Amino acid sequence: MSSSERLILKPAAVFIGRGPLHRDWAVLVDGERIAAVGPAATLGAPADAAVIELADATLLPGLMDLHSHVLLYPYDRTSWNDQVLREPEALRVAHATNAAGATLRAGFTTLRDLGTEGAGYADVGLRAAIAQGVIPGPRLIVATKAIVATGTYGPKGFAPECGCMPLGAEEADGIDSLTRVVRDQIRRGADWIKVYADIGWGPRGESRPTFTLDELQLVVDVAESSGRHVAAHASTPEGMRRAALAGVRTIEHGNDGTADVFALMAERGVALCPTIAAYEAIISYGGGGLGGEPFTPEPEAKYASMRAALASGVTIVNGSDVGVFAHGDNARELEALVRYGMSAQQALESATAVAAEILDLDGEIGTIAPGMLADLVAVGGDPLENVSAIRDVRLVLQRGRIAAERSLTAL
Ligand SMILES: [Zn+2]
Repeated sequence: MSSSERLILKPAAVFIGRGPLHRDWAVLVDGERIAAVGPAATLGAPADAAVIELADATLLPGLMDLHSHVLLYPYDRTSWNDQVLREPEALRVAHATNAAGATLRAGFTTLRDLGTEGAGYADVGLRAAIAQGVIPGPRLIVATKAIVATGTYGPKGFAPECGCMPLGAEEADGIDSLTRVVRDQIRRGADWIKVYADIGWGPRGESRPTFTLDELQLVVDVAESSGRHVAAHASTPEGMRRAALAGVRTIEHGNDGTADVFALMAERGVALCPTIAAYEAIISYGGGGLGGEPFTPEPEAKYASMRAALASGVTIVNGSDVGVFAHGDNARELEALVRYGMSAQQALESATAVAAEILDLDGEIGTIAPGMLADLVAVGGDPLENVSAIRDVRLVLQRGRIAAERSLTAL
């Protein structure tokens, strides 16, 4: 299909990225952008447009997962330590190539990929390969290596005199080193800066804050000077508090977040990316977390923190930590968000319009409106009634081109 062709999509309903479903609406795509959306009867479709009938399907903006690791795959297949320590980068990129294809076929057209976990800057090359059409995959927003305080991140537990062990992230501390590392990651292609505000490095392996408030503020200042935002891994109330005060854009996980810290985040406009799906996957694997931290999730604690988060009014954005579990199964997080108390509409908003705002891409993606890029997904049934409907992907459009489709003739 050439990019100048026009398409009319006729689903049973349209979810524009916010609000309720619109029944009997249609969408006109002209080239790579949406030209019109509205009631099918009055859309004014041009005669030369190709019509795609999507009976009984709902059309949504392409879905977004704002916490992925395309360069990891499930730990029950190969442990995190072994992926980081033993696998050549080319092998990891080969896995990531499959991951990218599976993600796109699942209707996810944008990922914010938060750290290569020892695979260097491979995310920058994957981003280019997808953008150039070399391999199929979602738009990637990448963080490269991610930044950790010295001595806090894995692989851990090896002979301490050996200083040559591969690490899952880049160490930096203090004013000079943090400034240089943030700028270096930007030079090498980072769209976002990912920083670990806490991790399991206490004397008994427990999660403790890592960087001081001054250090986190410096990271944010340097990154924001370049127009880039910071995502902070944080689960302890103090790590979250420091990250929120420092001005990060999102806090990842927030597992032990309290009403007070969520209120601070809401006040400061810091969003929560809860990664419930990874939390649950780690329970099913019997423990163990990123960076080799001894992490034993407690389901009740996560429920309690999500209840506090929802009550606080903090913005919640969809992000699953996929890679901990299988790529292409990103729907897990939306299902979890609903199980933990969001409506299906709120969960879908967090994966479309809200996600686009967090990424500063709300003028391009995340909603179905004239002028927006035609990143679209059609799913069987009504995902606002049952969010698992997003698993029944019928059609994926990426910039107006069909990226994946399933038995259209049968619809
Ligand atoms: Zn992660």
